Amino acid sequence: MDHVIPALMPTYNRADLAFERGEGAWLWTTDGRRYLDFGAGIATSSLGHGHPHLTKVIAEQAAKVMHVSNLYRVPQAEELAARHVAHSFADSVFFCNSGAEANEGMVKAVRKYHAEQGHPERFHMICFEGAFHGRTLGMLSATGNEKYLAGFGPPVQGFDHVPFGNMNAVRAAIGPQTAGIMIEPVQGEGGVRPADLRFLRELRAVCDEFGLLLALDEVQTGMGRSGKLWAHEWAGIEPDVMSSAKGIGGGFPLGAILAREKVAKYLKPGTHGTTYGGGPLACAAGNAVLDVVLAPGFLDQVDRVARVLWRGLLDLAAKHPTVISGVQGAGLLLGLKLRPEVNNGEMQGAAVAEGLLTVAAGMNVLRLAPPLIITETEVEQALALLDRACLRMTPSQAQVAAK
Ligand SMILES: *Cc1c(COP(=O)(O)O)cnc(C)c1O
Repeated sequence: MDHVIPALMPTYNRADLAFERGEGAWLWTTDGRRYLDFGAGIATSSLGHGHPHLTKVIAEQAAKVMHVSNLYRVPQAEELAARHVAHSFADSVFFCNSGAEANEGMVKAVRKYHAEQGHPERFHMICFEGAFHGRTLGMLSATGNEKYLAGFGPPVQGFDHVPFGNMNAVRAAIGPQTAGIMIEPVQGEGGVRPADLRFLRELRAVCDEFGLLLALDEVQTGMGRSGKLWAHEWAGIEPDVMSSAKGIGGGFPLGAILAREKVAKYLKPGTHGTTYGGGPLACAAGNAVLDVVLAPGFLDQVDRVARVLWRGLLDLAAKHPTVISGVQGAGLLLGLKLRPEVNNGEMQGAAVAEGLLTVAAGMNVLRLAPPLIITETEVEQALALLDRACLRMTPSQAQVAAK
């Protein structure tokens, strides 16, 4: 029988590139071409490819014991949790396998907190237009994007959306059913849009005023990507609960819910769980990533190199005003906002043609999220490749005249 569908389910529009190996910020295809990786597997390969410490720890742990389940103590998870507690607002940590799973658990924790206060009717999260929180049924509803929801039945109840950055709309949305506010410090998929630091402080204040929990989705912004360990540190605030994933495993699947005691204490045995989550192998990887990210000077270097990239992108925007209309983001999560005439998917293709990998994001933005180990030389190389990609996208004089 003839099958038209590929064996690998066609849920993605994949670029026709297959990588065989990587080293640092570079990837080589099976046919030997080399690419500078400014996508890092969607802001995930935080230490780049083939990092000697991370790969050694994973190989050694895999040979010892890979999985035992959460029926037993897992020393690697206990150590990783203690280190996260020591370096964040959190008092307790739950490990899982992905960003969507971390967010699901985070919303469950918020709902449970209010139920335990005698307010089970308080189960609504205020979320933001342009958000992305994952692809499970619950997180599609938290995301609220009609395009992603279409065809999958009624949305899960309890997610109210307001415009990103609009404090009046937040206040107007608060009601007797509101349990918390859920926000990405920088909207990643939605277009690399940073929340105003003052807006984040106001959200903290409004949560305190109304007894709501502030739930941050730092799946993409966390683990050093912003130049601080967690992006909310820039605002000088602390959430009540936070999700993370992507960069915390350096490419090995790992998610986490970090919570204050007042929230975490209600997640007693039987309330939440996962088979794989917090296993020896994933947590060994998580510890190896922390070894590197917490080493003295590492985050300072991320901040320094991010500023070089930022300045370079501003120069690029000034040089190519018919292609780029602005630069936005934070740390090593930056976006080139493209002119409406320039399609971000085509620009991504132009960058690939020059040997540079990037990731498209919402609102016609080209996202740059290199590994955190990127050097200034590599940033200069990427800027040169982007310059050439811009030339490919620049409308010819004839096209301009015709408009
Ligand atoms: C990627 C992402 C998610 C979903 O993570 P998965 O690991 O794909 O489930 C959730 N929130 C944010 C902010 C993300 O960037």
